[in-house]
Amino acid sequence: MTDLSARSRALELDAGSPLRERRDLFSLPAGTVYLDGNSLGALPRAVPERISRVVAEEWGRDLIASWNTADWIGLPRRVGDRVAELLGLPEGSVWVSDSTSVSLFKTMVAACRLRPGRDVIVVESGTFPTDGYMAASVARMLDMELRWADSGQPEEAFDDRVALACLTHVDFRTGAMFDAAAVTAAAHAVGALMLWDLCHTAGAVPVDLVAADADFAVGCTYKYLNAGPGSPAFMYVAPRHQDAIDQPLSGWMGHARPFDMELAYEPVKGIGRLASGTPPILALSALDAALDVFEGVDPADLRATSLSLTDYFIELVDVRLPGVFEVVTPRDHERRGSQVSLRHEQAYGVVQALIARRVVGDFRTPDVARFGFAPLYVTHADVYDAVDHLVAVMEDREYERPEYATRNRVT
Ligand SMILES: *Cc1c(COP(=O)(O)O)cnc(C)c1O
Repeated sequence: MTDLSARSRALELDAGSPLRERRDLFSLPAGTVYLDGNSLGALPRAVPERISRVVAEEWGRDLIASWNTADWIGLPRRVGDRVAELLGLPEGSVWVSDSTSVSLFKTMVAACRLRPGRDVIVVESGTFPTDGYMAASVARMLDMELRWADSGQPEEAFDDRVALACLTHVDFRTGAMFDAAAVTAAAHAVGALMLWDLCHTAGAVPVDLVAADADFAVGCTYKYLNAGPGSPAFMYVAPRHQDAIDQPLSGWMGHARPFDMELAYEPVKGIGRLASGTPPILALSALDAALDVFEGVDPADLRATSLSLTDYFIELVDVRLPGVFEVVTPRDHERRGSQVSLRHEQAYGVVQALIARRVVGDFRTPDVARFGFAPLYVTHADVYDAVDHLVAVMEDREYERPEYATRNRVT
């Protein structure tokens, strides 16, 4: 039997990983085990160089001409197409411009306007707060009702009053994953549209939204897509809906002829009508450079590596800390994203003690210690070392130290 407690096993697993060369594409601080890429992805080495070039040459030297000479004006679409390719979506179906929250608002309203006469939006009760807050406001604005679905059985909330179901594909707190095809089919069966939030999916877990026949999707780019703090989110609209959508933030950049400065709004055909105002060029350039780390990565390798890392973490926690934590994340591969969440009464102190040991995970209220495994730069050796520190934290009850035990700040 393999000796689970041996670090050599981690090194063997890393040596056999198809993605082992990818970590070098990131700039990671030495001596840190970074398991928080599901909150803020690590820095790809290509980003600083790209940003300084855009700032010095495109902005500093070429000034306003760069809208054309550097094709700044085409950047949201070009970057959108790269995200689309990574996610297996058709060209011209993804737009990148605003925060996740704003993107949710725009797509939710656009979706509901495609289903006039229906008055319910479904959100699941475990959702990330902003998704629920946005849905509540959209419901209020459009004179609709917000219906909370059980995260285990969202389909039970679907009926012929539902215009839109908006669910998070991978749950931010538990790491549980929905069967996108089955849930989308259930929404369509009652005539509702389906919007997937891919914040904890994109860049970590392949999902086939074309096969699932999903209508809309939104997702972060600063988590597993590593584009930096506050980088703009992406929006996907199935090609069949693109020319019919009426999004609420009808700014001039989504106009058919923005530079004709017409008084009446006429949306451009296609995905570009999701634009509102001037695109964030620096942030989009960072995203463009960050996406290079995925060039040539087989999605199957991404998934296999993610599962190998999370399996190994769960195994080590089971063997070395039996009965100490409840593993909240599903053990079933079909239902697991790329993170592992451990429940413990002292989860906050545990996470703080780990951070002091330079093992960075995060805490999610009320009692979850959350660890994200970004398959491109987290190694099995990282997993081994993280659990080693976790064992020390638990054995010495470090989480009880006054400087760790009080929760005074949400990280
Ligand atoms: C991270 C995350 C967000 C973040 O929204 P922002 O507008 O980017 O702050 C929204 N929804 C989900 C599900 C997330 O995981």
